[in-house]
Amino acid sequence: MPFSTEAGCAVVLDEQDPLARFRRRFCMPQETIYMDGNSLGLLSVDAEETLLAALSGWRNKAVGGWLDAGPPWFTLGEDLGRMQASIVGAEPDEVVVTGSTTVNLHNLLGGFYRPGGRRKRILADELNFPSDLYAIRGHLGLRGMDTERDLELVPSRDGRMIKERDVIGAMGPGTAVAVLPSVLYRSGQLLDVEGLTAAAHRAGAVIGFDLSHSVGIVPHKLHDWDVDFAVWCNYKYLNGGPGCTAGIYVNRRHFGSRPGMQGWWGYRKDRQFDMLPVWEGAPGAGAWQVGTIPVLATAPLAGAMRLVLEAGIEAIRAKSLLLTDYLMFLADETLCGPACGFAVGTPRDPSRRGGHVALEHPEALRITKALRARGVVPDFRPPNVVRLAPAPLYTSFQEVRAVIEHLAAVVRNVEYKAFAPTRDRVS
Ligand SMILES: *Cc1c(COP(=O)(O)O)cnc(C)c1O
Repeated sequence: MPFSTEAGCAVVLDEQDPLARFRRRFCMPQETIYMDGNSLGLLSVDAEETLLAALSGWRNKAVGGWLDAGPPWFTLGEDLGRMQASIVGAEPDEVVVTGSTTVNLHNLLGGFYRPGGRRKRILADELNFPSDLYAIRGHLGLRGMDTERDLELVPSRDGRMIKERDVIGAMGPGTAVAVLPSVLYRSGQLLDVEGLTAAAHRAGAVIGFDLSHSVGIVPHKLHDWDVDFAVWCNYKYLNGGPGCTAGIYVNRRHFGSRPGMQGWWGYRKDRQFDMLPVWEGAPGAGAWQVGTIPVLATAPLAGAMRLVLEAGIEAIRAKSLLLTDYLMFLADETLCGPACGFAVGTPRDPSRRGGHVALEHPEALRITKALRARGVVPDFRPPNVVRLAPAPLYTSFQEVRAVIEHLAAVVRNVEYKAFAPTRDRVS
């Protein structure tokens, strides 16, 4: 359907939306348009229910909850991993829910980064998420490598995108491991995970991806694409709650290889309580667990995942692309002329973008604050991006249209000048 700027267009899009019914299952913040689901997804009644079930297991069963709570806590990481496998295109035992994204990356680098001879460099890109770069440099330091010389950071030509060609050109006999994002957290560019994986393997390197900005919004085929490992965050599009336990994928080719951090939670589950002094890893990705699963930080994910599986990742992706297409159409029509001065920093090609849209403006920081004052919640990413993430399970097309109207008003009335250009500690 061709878009128009009329309000009726958004109404029709909402009427035709096959996922519209899911919004009722979320706790929508009052008088707010929430466009920050890629930073912290909203609470659903389903997630609340599974969290409360964990609490009642603690209340009623105490230590018995490890085996008798519904679901039992002892295998929660494996059970949720199995639940997540289809949305990342993995086999059920290639995924486990454990740790946090950054700690998981440390663990995987500890196992997969084996510098030897000439092959000792880690390849990443200069637009990579800062925490991932901190972890990578940490590992280079731990192994006695040079944190600058042995880190190959593929530059961006325009500050927004990474060209796959440049990444592939940088892979060579010196590359030990490549760590790349699936979707860039600022511009929203979706990288060619399959092509990059094939190229890394041709170069003799191992490759891992951070899926934090694609999981739950873009389908993946990690196993078929032969990706070696991946990490992701469960509190963004997957709505698992603040600090929710994260996810790991390990290709079964690597089952039995040594994780970077060994602990009893990664021990074979049938013998974990034999309490033997020598570690014997679980047969699947579960071996990459370290310590006891934080049950209360994990429990909401079961309910949240139920919604995603019920909606279906393909339907989620289809609505997401329609939402962002519509958003960019409206931005082009109303925000990108000289009067407003915005630029869309996200690729237009649906095969090259994730779930959010980056609107660039020199006053992005103050515009973000003015939007919040109007009850719209975007986020700001330095230096110049207003990041908008319509979430297919709870964002309506009418909300997308309203956000663009708010943005136009903020800029036309120069409302943002009333705000200080200083960032809060969390943005
Ligand atoms: C959100 C995010 C993380 C978060 O890492 P934590 O360890 O959970 O704090 C990591 N990587 C990327 C790309 C992210 O977007």
